[in-house]
Amino acid sequence: MADYYSTLGVSRDASQEDIKKAFRQLALKYHPDRNLGDKESEEKFKEINEAYTCLSDESKRAHYDRFGTSNGFGGAGAGGFGAGAGFGDIFENIFDDFFGGFGGFNKTRSTKGSDLRYNMNITLEEAAFGVEKNITIPKWQTCETCSGSGSEPDKAASTCPNCKGAGQVRFQQGFFSVAKTCGKCNGAGKVITHPCKACKGSGKMKVKKEISLKIPAGVDNNSRLRVSGEGDFGSYGGPAGDLYVVLSVDDHRFFVRDGLDIYCQAPIQFHKAVFGGEIEVDTLDGSTKIKIPAGTPSGKTFHVKGRGMPKLGSHQRGDQIVTVYIDVPKKLTARQKELLEEFARISGDDNPEYGKGFKSKLKDLFSA
Ligand SMILES: [Zn+2]
Ligand SMILES: [Zn+2]
Repeated sequence: MADYYSTLGVSRDASQEDIKKAFRQLALKYHPDRNLGDKESEEKFKEINEAYTCLSDESKRAHYDRFGTSNGFGGAGAGGFGAGAGFGDIFENIFDDFFGGFGGFNKTRSTKGSDLRYNMNITLEEAAFGVEKNITIPKWQTCETCSGSGSEPDKAASTCPNCKGAGQVRFQQGFFSVAKTCGKCNGAGKVITHPCKACKGSGKMKVKKEISLKIPAGVDNNSRLRVSGEGDFGSYGGPAGDLYVVLSVDDHRFFVRDGLDIYCQAPIQFHKAVFGGEIEVDTLDGSTKIKIPAGTPSGKTFHVKGRGMPKLGSHQRGDQIVTVYIDVPKKLTARQKELLEEFARISGDDNPEYGKGFKSKLKDLFSA
């Protein structure tokens, strides 16, 4: 019987950590899967396992150190894959290294297609009252020529000779039966012998699909519309993904939106500000009249109830808030000029409310 320490290439006082490390390296090197049909490697692999089974167990190791044999301990006989404590995780580690974990088996599981995102700009009026739009989106669909099989219509894919259609190959490892995804067919169980010319065997095609979209009244920036099933197609019969339309509302030349309310500014003539009257202002839907009371200053706001944005999924609407400013005429007729000069003359230079106070303060300042 070979010396267990020299089999693993470690010294007699090696730590458990060293023994584990040495075993792992050797097991990977001599693993039967990497040395198919090599009897010598297989033999070596058994030796390594035997040595490790003994030395990784402190009581077995102590027995071996004293008597030069691991016999007398059940399950650790010559050539045996002793199921000693701690052995399982080593095995798992090795298999992880070999097969990249067991996740590979999921390859043939049907998966949902990718979701798609489409950015769309709409006007404020469209956001307010809803709109129907047609959009064209590029997306992956099942190839129509081969219905997604990837094979020419009259030439069906043949059963994978490597896995005989199972999609997995199994082999015996010690007393473990190990399965891994078939490398020839990638788990599909079939191999394409005559690839479909339309999709080159992929079973999918990039298409441009026109979709009609109903945008509801009351949407805002970053509102998302989900169009179920209009994303990319799913693989292996999985459901298609969804299409998400993300909205951006363009700036309006006249209105500013704040939630449900709409803000705007409106000019009023000087005499209307003084005497009062009516002005007409645009709203999102037609125009409306606002009553201006006598003596209205610039900056005064008026609320037009119920003419703002509609609330999504409701009949409720916000308000339109109109801020008025006095429109100073730039061109005057001779008559207008004459009358205004007259007005100015009888009003005097001083502003009745602020001017006098301001002037007298200035006077105080200079006479001090
Ligand atoms: Zn095809
Ligand atoms: Zn196969």
